[in-house]
Amino acid sequence: MDLSGFYKRTIEERLRILQQHVQLSDEEIALLKNSGALDLPRADRMIENVIGAIHFPLGIATHFKINGKDAIIPMAIEEPSVVAAAGKAAKLCLPEGFSARADAPVMRGQIQLMGTKENALDELKKHHNALFKEAKKYGAPLEPFGGGLKELKFRGLESQRGKIVIAELFVDVRDAMGANSINTIAEKLAPFLVEKAGGTMRLRIISNLATERKAYAQATWKKEEIGSEAIEAILDGYEMARIDPYRCATHNKGIMNGIDAVALATGNDWRAVEAGAHAYASLDGYHPLTHYKKTQKGDLVGKIELPLAVATVGGAVNTSPTAKIALKIAGVKTAQELAMHMACVGLANNFAALYALTTTGIQAGHMKLHAKNLAVMAGAKGNEIDQVVEALSAKGEYTFPAAENALKRIRHGK
Ligand code: NAD
Repeated sequence: MDLSGFYKRTIEERLRILQQHVQLSDEEIALLKNSGALDLPRADRMIENVIGAIHFPLGIATHFKINGKDAIIPMAIEEPSVVAAAGKAAKLCLPEGFSARADAPVMRGQIQLMGTKENALDELKKHHNALFKEAKKYGAPLEPFGGGLKELKFRGLESQRGKIVIAELFVDVRDAMGANSINTIAEKLAPFLVEKAGGTMRLRIISNLATERKAYAQATWKKEEIGSEAIEAILDGYEMARIDPYRCATHNKGIMNGIDAVALATGNDWRAVEAGAHAYASLDGYHPLTHYKKTQKGDLVGKIELPLAVATVGGAVNTSPTAKIALKIAGVKTAQELAMHMACVGLANNFAALYALTTTGIQAGHMKLHAKNLAVMAGAKGNEIDQVVEALSAKGEYTFPAAENALKRIRHGK
């Protein structure tokens, strides 16, 4: 699939090109042209106190090849450059592209008991089989899809408020994110735990630190493609993230730029994804979610590993009108496939950021896109926008007054 020059096309042309690769109905095309219009009655069913809806630009990142197959990546984001950067990184690792895999979609639920009997843990362990059977019943709705309860474990924590007994459920949630399913099992099982362990039940909720549900991706950027100097620069940049948390936070933010954009486009809970990613990065000291090294041949290998609790069913995936279109564009059916794609995008955005930041810097590219926003803010319409952008780029002055002045000059034919 060659989508070179996609960015130079008009929106109308882009949609026509997209239709050559993804079967989109006339209704879906109309919806995309109407900015994904989320009608207010539907919005009113999604959250409380609705007074309107907001839009994000939806773009596609091109040039992705994942496990030998071409992929189009839907991304919803307000920040300029992220979509282009992902596509650039993907193009630079062709023809091999990315390899990716994902763990089985197992999520952890936690039930907290306080004030339990002295021998609570022993009691719970003694009744493990009966409790497991009870919990399994509540996980049954997931069984037709190949999921359901996998494990039930118990542990204790000493705290300032006394001993906390924790029961942990491990549930294969298949293509769902899993929060509703897990929270339901946890709430229903808790009274049975109290029966055996005594005390009072407190929290009964999913954990967003989804260490059982990680996604992994890898790519090689050849020295013939990007140059040995750039590889050294990237390794220097990576090294700083490895040892300095102030840099590492921004390093990981760059990864999440891509991952969150796919999460948002596909109606996924990006707060859950963020919480999981940063908690995982903080295990054993805050560290980068990617890893880079130079091969013996002098090429650069990048890897990413992070929890990705994402869904292709349930939650807003089913209620957001554009999420289904985005999943169709992504060409993924299962949550594991989606997680693999997201891991690749995270790696791509991280590579692109490191490449740009440690060589040319990002401001030149960023500011060109920012100039478009400034032109629109200053009131430029149609062709005037490009003219204002040109004027700002020529002077290298990207401010609102400069945009206003440029527009005035253009309108007065100067
Ligand atoms: P859900 O309950 O909407 O969907 C899951 C259900 O979809 C399953 O019970 C199953 O019946 C059905 N299903 C159909 N096809 C399936 C398939 N192939 N695989 C699996 N299930 C299939 O959603 P959920 O994933 O349980 O919960 C996600 C929602 O919970 C999100 O909106 C999230 O924002 C929210 N939430 C998150 C948290 C948190 O992250 N801490 C807490 C509470 C709620």
